[in-house]
Amino acid sequence: MSETQPHPGLAGALRERLGEAAVVTDPTRLAPYMAEQRGLYTGQGRLVVRPADTDGVAAAVRLCRDYGAAVVAQSGNTGTVGGGAPRHAGEVVISLERLRRIRHLDAEDGHLVAEAGCTLAALQEAAARAGRYLPLSLASEAECRIGGNLATNAGGLNVLRYGNARAQTLGLEVVLADGRIWRSLQGLRKDNSGYDIRDLFIGSGGELGIITAATLRLHPIPSNRRVALLAMPELGPILPLVRAAQAESGDAVVAAELMSAEALAMGQHLEDTPANPLPGSPWYLLVELATPDPRADLDAALAAALEPLQEAGQIDDARLAPTEAAAARLWRLRTAIPDGQKRVGASIKHDISVLPGDIAAFVPRALAAVQGLDPRVRPCVFGHVGDGNLHFNLTQPADADGAAFLAQRASYHRIVHDEVRRFAGSVAAEHGVGQLKRDEVRSYADPLGIELMQHLKQALDPDGLLNPGKGAAATGPRTADLNPGDDASC
Ligand SMILES: Cc1cc2nc3c(=O)[nH]c(=O)nc-3n(C[C@H](O)[C@H](O)[C@H](O)COP(=O)(O)OP(=O)(O)OC[C@H]3O[C@@H](n4cnc5c(N)ncnc54)[C@H](O)[C@@H]3O)c2cc1C
Repeated sequence: MSETQPHPGLAGALRERLGEAAVVTDPTRLAPYMAEQRGLYTGQGRLVVRPADTDGVAAAVRLCRDYGAAVVAQSGNTGTVGGGAPRHAGEVVISLERLRRIRHLDAEDGHLVAEAGCTLAALQEAAARAGRYLPLSLASEAECRIGGNLATNAGGLNVLRYGNARAQTLGLEVVLADGRIWRSLQGLRKDNSGYDIRDLFIGSGGELGIITAATLRLHPIPSNRRVALLAMPELGPILPLVRAAQAESGDAVVAAELMSAEALAMGQHLEDTPANPLPGSPWYLLVELATPDPRADLDAALAAALEPLQEAGQIDDARLAPTEAAAARLWRLRTAIPDGQKRVGASIKHDISVLPGDIAAFVPRALAAVQGLDPRVRPCVFGHVGDGNLHFNLTQPADADGAAFLAQRASYHRIVHDEVRRFAGSVAAEHGVGQLKRDEVRSYADPLGIELMQHLKQALDPDGLLNPGKGAAATGPRTADLNPGDDASC
C-alpha cells in the first residue's frame, strides 16, 4: 500500500464509477475532512470519496483495494481520538455523509432503520415525530452521525438508564474489507444462531468494516421528567443516592452527572452559562429522572432518596428545577464545562471509567497523584458518574506556560492511568482508541485480549486496508501527535 499518495488512476476510476460529485481532491474542500476535533491530528489524505448509497461504498472499497489504497471511514468527524484522520497521504477517506435516508420506522414495534450518515439529532427528531424516543444523546449530536456513533460505541448522557450505542442497536449493514456487504438489519430481539457478528463491528473504530446502516431500538417518550442539582461536601453519597433514586422511582434515573466546583466554575467562562444556584460546595451532582408514566411521582421519589443523606449531612443543598426552562438552565451548568475549560488554558484530558462504587475512592487518589507532579495544576473533573465514566481533565496552572504544561502530557497520562489500573478501570471509556490511545491501551490491556483482537483483525481485514495503524489491535509505529494542540472536547 502506498503511503505517499493514492495511485494516480484511483480518483479517475472512482469518478467514473460514482460520479464527479462523489470525489473530492481540491485542497480547500478536503480541509474539513482532515481537521480533527481535538486539534491533535491533521489528516494527511488527498482524496475523499462520498458515495451516495451502500453499493457505492462497496464499490469505493473495491476500487481502493484494487489500487492498493487503505481507507478511513468517516461519518460526522467529531471523534476525539484521531480515528477518522488519515495517517498518510495515500489513505482515502470514505465519507458516509451522503447516506442519509431513514429507510424504515416502525413506531409500534419500536425500531427504525437508518443509514450511517444520518445525524444523531435527525434520528432523535424522526423518532419524536413518530411518538417514540431514541435515547442516545451526546453534546455533539447535531454533527455526529449514527455510523460514527456505532463505530465508537458512543456513550453520552443517558447510558445509566438506556445503555450505550451498542445497547440501542438491533441490526447492522456493513461493507467488508473485500467490498462484500453483510446485511443483518432485521431487528430481531433474539437470535442465537451463532457468534454475535453485529457486536463485533460496534466499537471497532472502522478497523473491521464500514457500517452503512443500522436498526435502532425506539422507546416510549419519557415525558414525565425532573432535573435536580445537588451540592455535596464529598463524593461518598453519589452511589447510595443514585441507587436509592433508582429504587424509589422504578428505575427512572436517566442521568447522574458529576461536576467538581472547579469544573463548574470553568463553565462559567461562557457568556450563556447561568450562575451556580448553590455555590460553596466542592462537588455537585446533576440528576435527571424521566419516565413515560405520567402518574409517577418523581418529586417524591427524589425526596425519599435524598432524605437520609440530608439527615446525615451528606447533602449540602438541593435545587429541583420547577419548569423545563429551569431544567435546561441546570443542564447548561454541565454542558458548558468542556468549552469553558478551553477558555481557561491548555488542558490534558483523560476519558476513563471505574466501577461507580469506586469513584469516591478513585478521585481523591488521582487528584493527589497529579498534584504530586505539580500542586498548581487545576483539575476539572466531571462526567457520567452514574455509569462510572469520568472526564478527569487537567488545566494548566494559572501562571504557567501552556506549551510547557502540554509537554508533560505523557507523565500526567501515566499518573492518572496507573490509578485507573489500580481500580481495574478502563483508560478508554467512551471515546475509543483511534491513534491517540492505541499504545496507552496496549500497555494496560490483557495481552491475550490484544492477541484475540489481532486475530479478528487479520480474519476480517487480512490486507490491513481498513484504518491501518489505529486501535488496540494495530501493529507498527504510532503516528506522533502532529499538532502540539490543546484538547478540544470533553
Ligand atoms: C462536543 C463533543 C461532545 C462529545 N460527547 C461525547 C459523549 O458524551 N460521549 C461519547 O461517546 N462521545 C462524545 N464525543 C465524541 C464523538 O462525538 C463520538 O465519538 C461520536 O460517536 C463520533 O461520531 P462521528 O459520526 O463524528 O464519527 P467520526 O468522527 O466520523 O468517526 C469516529 C471513528 O469511527 C470510524 N467511523 C466513522 N464512521 C464509520 C462508519 N460508518 N463505519 C465504520 N467506522 C466508522 C472512524 O474511522 C473513526 O475511527 C463528543 C465529541 C464532541 C466534539
